[in-house]
Amino acid sequence: MSLRAVRGTGMIRLSVSRHATRSRSQPYRKQPQVRAIDAAQSFDSESKQSENLHRCKSLKIGVVGFGNFGQFLTKRFIYGGHTVIATSRTDYSDEAVGLGATFFGDVHDFCEEHPDVVIFCTSILSLESTMYNFPFQRLKRNTLFCDVLSVKSFPKQLFQQILPSHFDILCLHPMFGPDSGKDSWQDLPLVYDKVRIGVDDSRAERCASLLRFFELQGCRMVEMSCEEHDRQAASSQFITHTVGRMLGTMELAETTISTKGFDSLMSLVDNTYHDSFDLYYGLFIYNENASAELARLELAFDQVKGQLFGRLHELIRREHFGEQIKGADARNLK
Ligand code: NAP
Repeated sequence: MSLRAVRGTGMIRLSVSRHATRSRSQPYRKQPQVRAIDAAQSFDSESKQSENLHRCKSLKIGVVGFGNFGQFLTKRFIYGGHTVIATSRTDYSDEAVGLGATFFGDVHDFCEEHPDVVIFCTSILSLESTMYNFPFQRLKRNTLFCDVLSVKSFPKQLFQQILPSHFDILCLHPMFGPDSGKDSWQDLPLVYDKVRIGVDDSRAERCASLLRFFELQGCRMVEMSCEEHDRQAASSQFITHTVGRMLGTMELAETTISTKGFDSLMSLVDNTYHDSFDLYYGLFIYNENASAELARLELAFDQVKGQLFGRLHELIRREHFGEQIKGADARNLK
């Protein structure tokens, strides 16, 4: 019998291999031998996964906006076997080296590196100005343009308006971030809209390779129009961020008797409160459905509060006016 620890999974597999052994006191018989192999084998799921990662075509990916989210994505791209070059308003040369990417302070130099894919990871608020100052003419005529903004109709419209027609457009939204996707991307949704992908095979294959990267990381792939994304995201993502911010502003602290419900609230704060205010403001300003959802949230809060105070008022009235109020209520009822 062999005992095999599957590296990184905490799983132990047992298998039997018969070896002939004999002790002095016992008659000859076959006994199982225990062996430990602490290395991934070619048939392990772990080995298969890394094999698959490398089956996906390696791309040269240009990240524009190398802040929190740009760096978070870059780390995984590099792990997935892709080459990353980056540019940003701030100098992130050291951070790029740390991640295995190359940083270009000058956006012209960045474009002249001719990435296969350019991904805008700038804040929602700065996308327009960044796009207007971007030297597209220095890129290859055949380049795939993407964004990862948390709102989708806005970048889609801007890309269609500004980008020359020979560029492909793929809008993406990983529905997770550096906090919620810190350990694993397994089953986390990746929304995508193939806005404009040229017909020739190489363009289709490049787009498929980028999507396959997310799939191989474990993402749940959701193909959805940008408009539908914004409709759905207003009542899910924007409300999540709003409630997370409200609770974060309250500065709630762990207690020794915290319930599971409270732990979920604390993890909601963790997953939203560290994002920049620009991001949250962008969700509000650039999603036309957000203000209606905010009004609904406010109304719901008032209703719940109204129920509490309504009952309290009734109690106080009874205490103050006793039977008198009962009589008046009874007359009103009549
Ligand atoms: P963010 O505050 O939304 O964006 C920061 C990025 O925007 C940095 O790269 C920053 O560049 C750039 N930027 C800000 N103002 C700029 C300006 N005036 N001109 C040029 N660049 C400017 O924070 P983030 O979390 O990194 O998000 C980046 C994008 O990813 C956003 O569009 C967001 O919606 C999207 N996203 C974020 C998450 C998340 O959980 N964080 C999840 C999914 C999608 P410098 O650092 O060089 O100043």
